[in-house]
This record gives sequence, C-alpha cells and structure tokens, in this order.
Amino acid sequence: MSFIDTHSHIYLPEFDEDRSEVILRAKAAGITHIVLPNVDQSTIAQLLCLEKTDPAYFHPAIGIHPTCIHNDYTKELAWVKEELNHRSYCAIGEVGIDLYWDTTFREEQIIAFEQQLQWAVDYRLPVIIHQRNAFEEVIASVEKFNCPELRGVFHSFGGTLDEAQRIVALENFYLGINGVVTFKNSTLSTVLSSVSLDRLVLETDSPYLSPVPYRGKRNESSYMILVAQKLSEIYHITLGEIGEVTSRNARQLFGL
Ligand SMILES: [Zn+2]
Repeated sequence: MSFIDTHSHIYLPEFDEDRSEVILRAKAAGITHIVLPNVDQSTIAQLLCLEKTDPAYFHPAIGIHPTCIHNDYTKELAWVKEELNHRSYCAIGEVGIDLYWDTTFREEQIIAFEQQLQWAVDYRLPVIIHQRNAFEEVIASVEKFNCPELRGVFHSFGGTLDEAQRIVALENFYLGINGVVTFKNSTLSTVLSSVSLDRLVLETDSPYLSPVPYRGKRNESSYMILVAQKLSEIYHITLGEIGEVTSRNARQLFGL
C-alpha cells in the first residue's frame, strides 16, 4: 500500500527533536512522497534543507501563507517571484485568504492571493489553497481566472456539500482531506459520499489537525493511514484502493 502526503510542515521546529524517526515511521506506513508547502520567508531555509536530505521524497512548494500577509506584503511577494525564477518548485503554496484570526489585511490578502494565482498560471504550477472563514472570497478569486491552466487543491477541506460541488465544478481542482474527516463533530463524511474519489488527495497538515485518536497531539505523516481508513469506510473500497486512487491524483496534480 502506498500513499502521498500532499501537505506537511515537517520542516518546522516542532519536529527538530525527532524528525528522522518521524520520517522512518512515514516510510514504514507506506508514505511515498511528502509535499512541503511554505509559510513565509522565514521558513524556506529549513524547508529546502530538509528537501536536500531526500529530494526524491520531499517536494517543496513556494508561496506566502495568508496569515503572513501584512503591510510589507509586496516585499514578500517580490521574494516569491525571485524564488520562482531561481529554482524549481512543485507548486505555489500555501496561499489563500484567512479571515478567522484577523481581518485587518483582508484586501492585501486578496491582492497577494490573486498575484500568486497569476504566477501559478504563468509558471504552469498547481496551487495549494488555504482558506478559513473565506470560502466565498477564495472561490471568487479562482473563478475570476476562469482558465484551464489554473489547477490545484483546496487544502484541509472541511466545508459543505455546496462548497465541495463548487470546487468540483472547477474541473482542475482537488479537495485535500486530512484528520478533520475523523472528527466526531465533522459532517465531512456525509459530504464526501457525494464527491468522487477521483477529486480527492490525502494530506496531514502536520503538525496540525491530527486524526482521532491523536486529536490535539502533534500530527505526523504516518497517522494519515487513519484518514485513508476513514475514506475506505466512506467509499466502501479497500485501503489499498484508497491509496492507489489518491496517489494517482496527487502525482497528476504535482507532477511527482
Ligand atoms: Zn499548511
């Protein structure tokens, strides 16, 4: 059985103590690739340092996380552009709009998101989208582009059936499914029973959003099997088939 973790921040300090063991456990659990979305300028050094240890296993993405968009966002964006010209990345991410923590820079977040979407088109890269309390804003920006070259994933999807259907209607977009699907209060299982498995990719969002029974603890890629198990219950197919289909989707999207 094999699986791809399309969203992990395993390069963050939360893993400094035991990163090599976490990677061994991931490999033992059948995780064949890990996509590493960036946060901001301060995180890229550790991210690329980890990639160097195993470039066939770790796949860096470049972008500025919406919670890191402030007054000086044009400087951050200029840096992303430089990086894109400087080396290859498997995706633009993670980018998006987050109005949960703070709405002060709502306009700046939208401008920065749309600029990074434009680069996804220009550089022919998929985009890893983060949104919180901002689905309408995010989908409006994506729909505005209305071009087949724009493709990507709505990471950490936990929304309604209506939202899922709007993403599926975009044709070149996937839903990133993580530990949230195992939460007792989540209605995601019901929503997903109406969404084709062909539109899903697996992820952890490590160190966040651990699946049950690790909820509240640090997350890691090996726990993603619990997410896959939940999907095998929802779709009534084997764990192996869940791995096969979601890995194929991830390979196609990220060019792995
Ligand atoms: Zn993330």
